[in-house]
This record gives sequence, structure tokens and C-alpha cells, in this order.
Amino acid sequence: SGARVRRAHNKRLPQYLERGVDVKFSDVAGLGKIRLELEEIVKFFTHGEMYRRRGVKIPGGILLCGPPGVGKTLLAKAVAGEAGVNFFSISASQFVEIYVGVGASRVRSLYQEARENAPSVVFIDELDAVGRERGLIKGSGGQERDATLNQLLVSLDGFEGRGEVITIASTNRPDILDPALVRPGRFDRKIYIPKPGLIGRMEILKVHARKKPMAEDVDYMAVASMTDGMVGAELANIIEVAAINMMRDGRTEITTDDLLQAAQIEERGMLDRKDRSTETWKQVAINEAAMAVAAVNFPDLRNIEFGFTCSRQSLLDHITVQLAPRAADELWYGEGQLSTIWAETADNARSAARTYVLGGLSEKHYGVSDFWVADRINEIDLEALRILNMCYDRAKEILNENRKLMDAIVDQLVNKKSLSKQEFTNLVELHGSIKPMPPSI
Ligand code: ADP
Repeated sequence: SGARVRRAHNKRLPQYLERGVDVKFSDVAGLGKIRLELEEIVKFFTHGEMYRRRGVKIPGGILLCGPPGVGKTLLAKAVAGEAGVNFFSISASQFVEIYVGVGASRVRSLYQEARENAPSVVFIDELDAVGRERGLIKGSGGQERDATLNQLLVSLDGFEGRGEVITIASTNRPDILDPALVRPGRFDRKIYIPKPGLIGRMEILKVHARKKPMAEDVDYMAVASMTDGMVGAELANIIEVAAINMMRDGRTEITTDDLLQAAQIEERGMLDRKDRSTETWKQVAINEAAMAVAAVNFPDLRNIEFGFTCSRQSLLDHITVQLAPRAADELWYGEGQLSTIWAETADNARSAARTYVLGGLSEKHYGVSDFWVADRINEIDLEALRILNMCYDRAKEILNENRKLMDAIVDQLVNKKSLSKQEFTNLVELHGSIKPMPPSI
């Protein structure tokens, strides 16, 4: 029996399985009629055979559409909880990796695990991060995103008609999803989860009040009517803040006043977030525009995206493009205000610079074996830093020469949230100052 135990231990533990998900529909408030649609999804699991016998097609995927915080994740968990099936989840932003194949292989393992542990719900958060229509502008991570999206399409098709694994995805932007994703048999059912109305807000407050010591005469309606525009996540937070208020005063019950005060605090936070979110959109736009503008200067770059061995110059070009978001941030916002949006691409640049040096491409030659010698590591780092600085200056130069183009792209991205390849090309022709950059070292 020892052997059997060992074998059980050796079995690969599922990475994407969320254990102990115990959410029920009664934990999700203010759904109204949407609840019926979700109950039907539960029946696909519990009465799958009946559906199949009657020739009713079970959807491959369900798309939960709505703004952040309205309870999309909570609902997906509730479906799994009510059906008594396993819950697998991943955030689509985790799919989008710079290295070719990583995103696609994550999708593959996710579905493999879900199938091995069926019946199960696969939940994909922020589907738009990976499911954006192919061909939209997206920096040099584009090829990778396409590979991931293709794998997702293949995985969804693999389950057609089986009803053992149902995918639920959430998105705030169903409008920008690749049309292939919403074809029959894939995400062919959309459920819109709006922000809660007055009664919905009251019900959500009450659900979260269940586990708290509330005063008997709490006026939930009063709180609901002063929280117009808030979503479940914010309402849940109000209850938490009110509880802290009570504790601080050494009382034992949460009162209407506690809730009203907490609602005011939450409202201020909400307004702050609103301000910040337009800024963030602009930052994201600058980030994407910078990569795209830098990339048009380097037509050879595709080689790197496909992981082929690449020339010395194309590796430098790649580093330059990866540093463009950081350079743009400095040019547009100044040194003092650098954000972290570009952290990932700057990291790509750093590792590419190391590859450059260790691959023997720089003037001084280092080999991988030098990597184990302490002095040499320092030298390698310094040489990599020199390369990074040089490419950074090039990125700034390109962006400076293309300020008009950058502004036009950012404008369009902020206003329309997307840009087709053709629109991008037009802007480049109109405003771009593209010239072949001479090799700089
Ligand atoms: P989304 O996935 O739409 O961004 P979440 O499901 O992550 O939102 O919601 C975050 C939290 O807000 C939930 O865990 C829950 O505590 C609370 N919440 C949101 N919507 C509701 C709701 N309709 N009923 C009860 N709680 C909710």
C-alpha cells in the first residue's frame, strides 16, 4: 500500500484548480431574471444526459459581460458550487506572455486539467486581454496573443457537445472580442450583468450583512439610495468599513450611521478611481503606441517574435522596442512620475540585453561559462547595462521624432479604444517620420 500512496503523491497536482469553492446562488444578490439563465447552466451539468437525449445543444462557453465588481467571478463560482463541480480559473492577462508558446501551453494545461477532473467549470477572467480581435494594434506581443487565442479556440472546440467542461469567461468589452470566439459552439451565449439598481443594491448589502452583527433597525434602503452607481464589490466594502468603525468605537452592533459614513468614504474612493482610470487608459495607450511606433522602424523584428535565432542588429532593435514604453513614459510624464505599466517590457529588454552579451554579440566576448565567475558576472551586467542605455536613447530618439504620430495614435486609442491595422498605417503615412536607423554600435 506504500507504493499506492506514493503513486497518488506523484500524480501531478492541478495548478489551476481552485479548492474549497463553496459559493451558492444565495451568496449573489440582486440578479433578478439573470438567475434563471444561470440555473440553466447548472442543469447542463446536473441533467446533461436529458439535454443530450432531447437534442438540445449545450453551449461550449458562456460569456459574462459587465463592468468590474458586479459579481461575474462570484457567479461563475456559484455555478460550480451549485452544480457541485470543480472550478478551474485563470486570468487571461496571465496568457499574454512575451515568449512564444507560453500562453498557448498554459491554455492547453488548463483544459487538460479541467478534463481530467471533469465535470468542471473553467473560468477565464478578462477574456478581452487575449481574445481581442486579431489584427488590432498591439505592440510586439501580438503574435503571441494570436497563438494563445488560436489554442483557446481549439480547446473550446474540443469540448463541443460534451457538457462535461463548461467555460465561463468574463469581459467588460464583448465588442472587441475576436469574432471567431463568439461563433456557435464557442462563446455562443452572452449574459449581461449590469450595475445593480436600488433594490439590487439593498439586497447585496443585506447578503453581506448576514455575517456581521447588525443593529436590528438598520435602514438598508437609506444606504442603497445613497450608493447610486456602486457595484457589489463596493457595497461589500461598505459593510467591511462599517464593521471597522464599530470596532473602533468599542460598540457591538453596526448601525445605519456606520453604514452611511462608510458609504461616503467609498464614494470618495470611487470618484478617485474614476479620475485615475482615465489617466490609466491614456497611459496604456501611450504604452501601446510607443511599441507600435518603435516597431515600424524595424521591419526585421518579426524574426524575434517567432523565436528564430536572430541577428545582432535585430536583437538590438527588439530591445529598443521593448524599452519604448518606458521611454514614452519619461517623455510624456517626466522622470518623477514613472509608472509601472512598462515593467514587463523593460524586463524583457533586460533579459534580451543579457542574451546579447552572453551570446557573444557584444564587442567583448563572454560565454555562458563566464556566467559562473563572480567578476565576470559584474562585467556582463555592466555590458548589458551599456546596451540597455544605448537602446533606451534610441527609443527616445524615435519617439521624439514621431511625437505627432504618437499623439494621433494615443488620441484615437483613448477615444475609440482600438485601432485597426489600416488606420494605424494611415496615421503612419500621415504623421510618421520613419527612417532606417543606422546600426548604433
Ligand atoms: P467581477 O468578477 O465582476 O469583477 P467579483 O465577482 O470579483 O466581480 O466581485 C467582487 C466581490 O464583490 C465579490 O467577491 C462579492 O464579495 C462582491 N459582490 C459583487 N457582486 C455581488 C453580488 N451581486 N452579490 C453579492 N456580492 C457581490
